[in-house]
Amino acid sequence: MYILMKLPYSYNALKPDISEQTVNIHYNKHHKKYNDNLNKLIDIDIYPLELIPENIDKFPMEKRADILYNAGGVLNHNLYWYSMSENQSMPKGRLLKKINDTYGNFDNFKNTFINKAKRLVGSGYTFLVKDESNLTIMNLPNQETPLSYGLTPLFTIDLWEHAYYLDYQNDRNQYIENFWNKANFDYASKVFENKS
Ligand code: MN
Repeated sequence: MYILMKLPYSYNALKPDISEQTVNIHYNKHHKKYNDNLNKLIDIDIYPLELIPENIDKFPMEKRADILYNAGGVLNHNLYWYSMSENQSMPKGRLLKKINDTYGNFDNFKNTFINKAKRLVGSGYTFLVKDESNLTIMNLPNQETPLSYGLTPLFTIDLWEHAYYLDYQNDRNQYIENFWNKANFDYASKVFENKS
């Protein structure tokens, strides 16, 4: 059985940028639903969650789309929660160096990410991913995961309406800007350090 990750902070930790109510509903209703659905689809968890996308063709044909969608939903939400914290944290070590090499400086990277996020059409995510030894910022629809493309996801923002609608209504751009007040690169820095 796949266990829902523990939220790494309290429901009110992301205030005022993301409200306690939004975090609570997002985690306990939306995120949990993907995890529950995945457990209904897979009897025995023969693969760790993050290996499901690359092994999707080992599952029965008629279940593949649902399994991939729900596994993606869990993986993407896990990464989203790890991409924030009560206190903002900058990239470190090799990741910081790579960001500076690729984008010139952190602010330029941040603006590139924000502009990409603002251009996403419909529901989905903007990701910072590791592509071979390079960094790429990409948009993916629905619950697609970069793992399906052989890329390592490092950092993400959830751009589904449920992520911001209670706090920002239709002003998604403001949510995208304010998200950066809580952006945390501890997870991304650690993964990049270990995989480069
Ligand atoms: Mn979500």
